[in-house]
Amino acid sequence: MFLRVDFNVPLDGAQITDDTRIRSTLPSIRYLIEEGAKIICATHLGRPKSDKDKKYSVKPVADRLSQLIGKEVKFIGELIGSQVENAKSQLNEGEILMLENLRFHPGETENDEEFARELAKGINVYINDAFGASHRAHASIQKITEFVPVAAAGFLLKKEIDFLSLATENPPQPYTLILGGAKVSDKIPIINNLMEKAQKIMIGGAMAYTFLKAKGINVGNSLVENDYLDQCRDIIKTAEEKKIKLLLPVDHVAAMKIEPEVTIRMVKKGKDIPEEMMGLDIGFETIELYSNELKDAELIVWNGPMGVFEIENFAAGTLEIAKAVAKSKAIIIIGGGDSISAVNKAGVADRISHLSTGGGASLEFLSGLKLPGIESLSEAE
Ligand code: ADP
Ligand code: MG
Repeated sequence: MFLRVDFNVPLDGAQITDDTRIRSTLPSIRYLIEEGAKIICATHLGRPKSDKDKKYSVKPVADRLSQLIGKEVKFIGELIGSQVENAKSQLNEGEILMLENLRFHPGETENDEEFARELAKGINVYINDAFGASHRAHASIQKITEFVPVAAAGFLLKKEIDFLSLATENPPQPYTLILGGAKVSDKIPIINNLMEKAQKIMIGGAMAYTFLKAKGINVGNSLVENDYLDQCRDIIKTAEEKKIKLLLPVDHVAAMKIEPEVTIRMVKKGKDIPEEMMGLDIGFETIELYSNELKDAELIVWNGPMGVFEIENFAAGTLEIAKAVAKSKAIIIIGGGDSISAVNKAGVADRISHLSTGGGASLEFLSGLKLPGIESLSEAE
């Protein structure tokens, strides 16, 4: 069987700095070993320019997997060809063979038929457990499913679909959506898709300033995407018509620059952010307002930090909201790489029902887009 995983982990040289993505697939891998599958495992890693880009070899990832499962993981350093076919045929039940980085072959990102056919050679069952790559129409995600008798979801992919569907289909009520982060343009599709489903939408981060500017509020030098002012106005209008509570920050922590040692200014409710300053975190009154508004939620979906949480002076908003979210009795779903690192920083990760492993994939799912990796599974059924 062929197991597509997303082991695209952060690396410092050959050192893996965070193995969450590998750990998340262990339930599938352990199950397959117990069932006596002969497992061909493959992932992409980083964005190598070619197969000469050896710093993107998945050897360290194979080694880490081997450590985690306490079992040898055979590494072949190739993707297709006679050597791989040989290794496949010599595999015993319950053994794992890890292929080289899928992106070492140009056919992967091109969704190339020939490459997919080669990957699928001798495969009886294809399992996609790579949620984080499932928004890509790539050969090992999509095309390969045309050349295997069975294509199905692994446990991680299923868990992601189950939780994220809760946010998009028949959500438990009351349902609160919290959005933040850098770019309003990334998050508008999520608001448009979920606005009718969530009664409360709380906005923080840089994206709040495009909304505030759209309302005619002076935001000084804050990060604003002027091309999206009209869309923000439309959202504000729809929210009013549909009686959806769209909450925007009422006070701010501002500064001239995004730097650790910079002088900060608390901009109180009703006051303007000074002309030459940027809003870099939500203020205390907003923290209190949002924390109170969260209390009755049965479902909370959060994507995007409330401020520049990487810098201590601008971290309080995100960390306090993380704590308030964690206190809630709601089902809590958090997506986005920075949001997850913020939740870890706040020390509340174990209180979260679901931390989504896919950045781009969760954004697209929450935006209501169909993911090629999920669609091709149902088509192959
Ligand atoms: P996620 O990875 O959780 O999806 P994003 O990538 O959308 O989140 O946004 C995270 C980034 O947004 C962080 O690097 C953070 O510093 C930045 N950010 C948050 N608030 C602001 C702000 N007010 N001004 C500038 N950048 C901000
Ligand atoms: Mg991010």
